[in-house]
Amino acid sequence: MQETEFYQQILGLEQPWFVADVKLDTEAQRVDVTVEHPEGTSFPCPECGKSCAVYDHTASRRWRHLDTMQFRTILHAQPPRVKCAKHGVKQARLPWAEKNSRFTILFERFAIDVLVASQTIKGAQSILRTSWDETWHILEKAVARGKARKTQEPLPRIGIDEKAFRKGQNYITLIYDLDRSTVEAISDGNDTESGNACFSQFSPQQLESVEAIAMDMSAAFVKSAKQYIPLAETKIVHDRFHVMKLASEAVDKVRRGEHRQLKQEGDDRLTGTRYLWLTSQENLTDDQKARFDLVYKQELETGKAWAYKEMLRDLWHHGDAGAATLFFHDWYRRVIHTKLDPLKKVARTIKERLANVVSYCTHEITNAVAEGINSKIMSIKRRVGGYRNRENFKTAIYFYCGGLKLYPQ
Ligand SMILES: [Zn+2]
Repeated sequence: MQETEFYQQILGLEQPWFVADVKLDTEAQRVDVTVEHPEGTSFPCPECGKSCAVYDHTASRRWRHLDTMQFRTILHAQPPRVKCAKHGVKQARLPWAEKNSRFTILFERFAIDVLVASQTIKGAQSILRTSWDETWHILEKAVARGKARKTQEPLPRIGIDEKAFRKGQNYITLIYDLDRSTVEAISDGNDTESGNACFSQFSPQQLESVEAIAMDMSAAFVKSAKQYIPLAETKIVHDRFHVMKLASEAVDKVRRGEHRQLKQEGDDRLTGTRYLWLTSQENLTDDQKARFDLVYKQELETGKAWAYKEMLRDLWHHGDAGAATLFFHDWYRRVIHTKLDPLKKVARTIKERLANVVSYCTHEITNAVAEGINSKIMSIKRRVGGYRNRENFKTAIYFYCGGLKLYPQ
């Protein structure tokens, strides 16, 4: 088989295009394939599809194609321009590449697969033999393509949450589709305006389709949900994990305070026990469990706070909101009569928002999906490591978690 014919086949070239020349450079491990069309060919106008005569050709251009036997393969062609009576002089559409791309469609598809499978952008780069900018450009284009194709589907169950972009500062706000496990909107910051910026990315029909929305207990997201979601008050569910996290933090505050006090009296019973109170029992080793039991028996304030926190878990085990409310009031009465100030504060916070905590019994949603996406996002942070640009981080989240149709054509 002639090499021109071989390349004709592996490039999957459509008529009227044919391979005119193949140059193999074994030294540089590179193949240059020149593609042409016969003289007198007409091409459809890219605007109206009407068959038009070739007007002229632009300068020769090149596209990186899939490697042939580890040889970097470059496609060369002079794109024809047609003259349409209605639309004037336009560049004809080329079947092997998207407009303005430096890669063939097949290469971009492959690059997307490699990016999805790679742990790092750098890893993808070394497989693709592309520069950082080229790789990133393919990723950005894939996201833009996916977003342009995205249809406005109903969003019955969503979650809104914040995520630190850099440690402890610089937040972004995300809205998740809890059924599809996808990130549907992202905005900068974590205040009411950030929430608004996320919600405003949806159509009125989508906002109306929301039946339940999971979130933490921060006032900011409550406020923007009420602004955008009709009857939000009946749809907000304060996320179980966030509520329990507040309770855990309160236990830790009690421990810190008590530990400080005990140490002043030369008592180090709470030294090195932090993780014992914060780790759930089923995750403790036998040794740790024995150690926990020993400290717990001392009847310290920390142990009491821990017991109340554990008791609170039952709030989510009730069949209906009425029963859950009764349970909470009982728990509240007990906690409020203790000296455990941090826990009392949490109890008051929950009481204030109780209707939207026990609404879990009706909607049964949590941001657990988001926790799954969160770990994915953490790995994205590692993947884009070194490139600490917020816009790139957002783009990467859409690429990996957006559920978008990323491929060209
Ligand atoms: Zn036209």
